[in-house]
Amino acid sequence: MEIFHIGAECYPVAKVGGLADVIGSLPKYQNSEENKVRVVIPCYQTTFRSENDFECVHWGKLKLGNFNFPFSVLKETSNKLGFELYLIEIPELFDRPNIYNYRDDIERFLSFQIAALDWITGRSSIPDIIHCHDHHTGLIPFMKKYCPKYDKLKNIPTLITIHNGLYQGIFTFNKLYYLPEFDLINIKELEWGNCINSLATAIKCADQVTTVSPSYLNEINHSDNGLETLFQRVRHKSKGILNGIDTDVWDPEKDPMLEINYSAETIDDGKLKNKEQLCTVFNMNPAKPLFSFIGRLYNEKGADLLPKIVSTALTIFKEEINILILGYGDVEIENQLKQLLSIYSGNYNAYIGYNEELAHKTYASSDFILIPSRVEPCGLNQMYALRYGTIPIVRRTGGLKDTIVDFEDNGNGICHDQASVEDVCDSMKRALDLYKNKENINQIRIKGMTIDHSWKNVSQEYIELYNLIIAKTYES
Ligand code: ADP
Repeated sequence: MEIFHIGAECYPVAKVGGLADVIGSLPKYQNSEENKVRVVIPCYQTTFRSENDFECVHWGKLKLGNFNFPFSVLKETSNKLGFELYLIEIPELFDRPNIYNYRDDIERFLSFQIAALDWITGRSSIPDIIHCHDHHTGLIPFMKKYCPKYDKLKNIPTLITIHNGLYQGIFTFNKLYYLPEFDLINIKELEWGNCINSLATAIKCADQVTTVSPSYLNEINHSDNGLETLFQRVRHKSKGILNGIDTDVWDPEKDPMLEINYSAETIDDGKLKNKEQLCTVFNMNPAKPLFSFIGRLYNEKGADLLPKIVSTALTIFKEEINILILGYGDVEIENQLKQLLSIYSGNYNAYIGYNEELAHKTYASSDFILIPSRVEPCGLNQMYALRYGTIPIVRRTGGLKDTIVDFEDNGNGICHDQASVEDVCDSMKRALDLYKNKENINQIRIKGMTIDHSWKNVSQEYIELYNLIIAKTYES
């Protein structure tokens, strides 16, 4: 089977969050003798692009309404990622350092989708399945189905995976002319809330919808994302599949980003030595338990609670604990976190920015990882934490609910129900008590390290789903 994954991010080429980790690893586990997997993302101005070799396999001109953009398709020559990687280079739109947050994001990602379909349609062989990820590729199932230009792909099944339903790629009908020609009888497929909604369109037009955890699938039927009724309508073609992790990249025994590697057998010494190094850099005492937060600083992650969590916890537990925050995002939250630096120096520090290596070091060094998310479609942080023997403190929501069970229920972490400072501090209190009982904490750490969250099994689940929708397409 020939599988195309199309998305906006892919680790280690271009990463903002978990979407990159998934697109950078699931295809690797799917690639085999029987399954040829290709990944297509835009060509941003990244170090990976400048430091690796690419060959141009296609060039053309894409049409976005009245605009024409030259584009080329670059193939990474060594296949070092474990699958074929293709970057779509549209210099005027993507030759920039960041992935998102430009004023012309709608034009950028629509052009990317058109270029991808132009290229795939023109290839000599057509894929068996197109797997789209999030709203940035949400119009592909529609265009493939209804634009005569892509007739050759008409019968190829598509699957949309929703990594985050809060972002939907919404724009007004004034921009309808951007899309390649299609019969206006199908215009309703594009519409949600009087706008063109890329994610809603994908949900309507794709043959299969998946979310990145079973609990998130249940939640989006009721939660406040504006698409609840649509999700209820497509229940028959929806499935929640829990993400896996790349256990080659995330492995405390071999992780090249750590100076001291460790296993479940050497966890005590290994974690302490990593913590000593990190605490030297961040001016903290390694004898104290280290609570960390790694993630995008947005309300959906509960990051707005962090400043209050830091001040409350460091008031209640005084000098007993350390807190380290690694993240960036909402400027207001960033500023509040920075303001606390001088007040709690010695017990608290924050790195405002993105730093992959520091993230690995922080998973390895921390005793507990704070994940107070309001919304968590899957969450990879808790799985990385488990693998590094770090105990997750999570709010029971989405994928966190599917992966973490409270230690008092014989589980692998610490759980609370509300995204509130009180609930998080209460969990931190329980964590502190646990920390004082060496035997208990080590048991829970080791239990976490031995859980298998690798893609091995999960990637098969996707293959089975592909086969199912391919079979259905042939039946109809
Ligand atoms: P989301 O995709 O919603 O951001 P996930 O938990 O699914 O959340 O994935 C987050 C990924 O991004 C993890 O690999 C995490 O380590 C990484 N990450 C988040 N923020 C940072 C940061 N500031 N620096 C380095 N890595 C980060």
